[in-house]
Amino acid sequence: MSEPIHDVVFIGGGPGGYAGAIRAAQLGLKVACVERRGTLGGTCLNVGCIPSKALLQSSHLYAQATHELGQHGIGVAGVELDLARMMARKDKVVADLTRGIEQLFRKNKVDYLKGSASLATADRVRVAADGGERVLAARHVVLATGSEVMPLPGVAIDERRIVSSTGALCLPAAPKHLVVVGGGYIGLELGSVWARLGAKVTVVEFLDRVLPNMDGEVSKQVQRLLQRQGLTFKLSTKVVGAIARDDGVDLTLEAAAGGAGETLACDIVLVAVGRRPATHDLGLEAIGVARDARGFVPVDARYCTNVAGVHAIGDLLPERPMLAHKAEEEGVAVAELLAGKSAHVNYEAIPGVVYTWPEVAAVGRSEEELKRANRPYRVGKFPFLANSRARANADTDGFVKLLADAGTDRLLGAHIVGPDAGTMIAELALALEFAVSAEDIARTCHAHPTLNEAVKEAALALDGRAINI
Ligand code: FAD
Ligand code: NAD
Repeated sequence: MSEPIHDVVFIGGGPGGYAGAIRAAQLGLKVACVERRGTLGGTCLNVGCIPSKALLQSSHLYAQATHELGQHGIGVAGVELDLARMMARKDKVVADLTRGIEQLFRKNKVDYLKGSASLATADRVRVAADGGERVLAARHVVLATGSEVMPLPGVAIDERRIVSSTGALCLPAAPKHLVVVGGGYIGLELGSVWARLGAKVTVVEFLDRVLPNMDGEVSKQVQRLLQRQGLTFKLSTKVVGAIARDDGVDLTLEAAAGGAGETLACDIVLVAVGRRPATHDLGLEAIGVARDARGFVPVDARYCTNVAGVHAIGDLLPERPMLAHKAEEEGVAVAELLAGKSAHVNYEAIPGVVYTWPEVAAVGRSEEELKRANRPYRVGKFPFLANSRARANADTDGFVKLLADAGTDRLLGAHIVGPDAGTMIAELALALEFAVSAEDIARTCHAHPTLNEAVKEAALALDGRAINI
């Protein structure tokens, strides 16, 4: 019996692929999603966003119990770390959520195929699984295969002594000394987890600041706050070699600009220097799907590659942040476009959040970007130290910083370092989506006492009229 023709086959069941598959099925298309991992949810649910946030939450509670509850008049004696139980909780969160997506697929009648997919032609998807090979006929194919760890020359990952983020999410014990190579999202989040659980953590960053894509003032403040929590930073430094021994690793460091080397001994190294698109074994060369010099798959505004019928979304796309919620927006947009609807993703209003404590969140332009674009702007800032809820909570580190067009007052960017910044940024993503002015935010009544009052005060500060500072 011949295979039925699918309207669309998604290759990859991460946030891009699974959200797109569900949306396409909701719109009445016959949909399949092929995933080779054995579980749905992609990098995000299995080895990314979710397990890292589970450990960030558990380690935050541990750090609070050991260092912070005393100031609230709560005495806790004999706090103990049961790392195996912490890891088991994280694994259960992941297992429950990935199974939940399988249920959503059943509910929406998405055909879920476990196996490794490749393109035989633009409209034939080969699926290799333990039980043999199957070929799906597809009117459209969406490549949603995501990304993988970027290797670092001279520092071979063995997931034992030299680990990627995946290994760092399941270390059997807190290292005595963890060296994190790369002061970006993963380096700061997983560095925070292990520092809270007792490791000495040294972050080696090639550039002259951490979180290089964030606003410069934010980067400086985050580094200061993490230093206060015990993390050490070696900026403008590169790792040029590593020798793994049974009981540790010797790293060779050099100044980024070149020059004398230095050796750093530690027991675990985490390589977190970025991720690269995962396109190998997909058969792209054979059918002529173009990739750029770094392996990303360029697409047009409708997520079409250069080959008719073949589309791409998520971490595969160049010049966009590698974020789960961005992949999800693209999955939904491509599904709606394939169903004949109009859809688009506003790349100007994609929030980014680093889940350290305090959290770091941003949406829109940074000061550096506005300067580079010669765009005249005004700045409004408000510190959490002057926010009554932050004082009541004993969480006063950080600030809200808003950037608005100097002429029109239109909001251009928002940056928050502070408690729950990741939740607070939603208000400002909505503001950018609706192209509001700073004055609109300043005139919006914010409940008291809330952390979000700092957003209103920063908007007032743009005009020199903040009340509480
Ligand atoms: P992926 O999630 O990578 O999914 C692609 C899927 O395709 C994978 O499951 C893979 O197995 C499958 N696949 C690949 N090739 C084939 C093939 N040939 N056949 C079948 N299946 C295939 N982002 C956030 O927004 N917030 C966070 O807090 C966050 N935390 C992160 C923490 C870590 C440690 C990491 C590593 C990443 C984190 N990210 C976070 C980034 C986020 O995980 C990615 O941006 C997101 O998962 C990309 O989604 P995607 O659908 O494009 O690809
Ligand atoms: P990243 O791009 O955030 O940070 C990599 C860092 O490594 C940069 O600061 C870079 O300058 C530095 N670097 C590069 N080469 C180096 C070298 N040779 N030596 C020292 N430093 C070097 O990448 P990441 O932290 O690996 O994370 C990958 C992606 O996953 C992120 O870009 C982000 O899109 C996503 N992610 C998101 C979250 C979140 O949303 N909370 C969390 C984790 C990961």
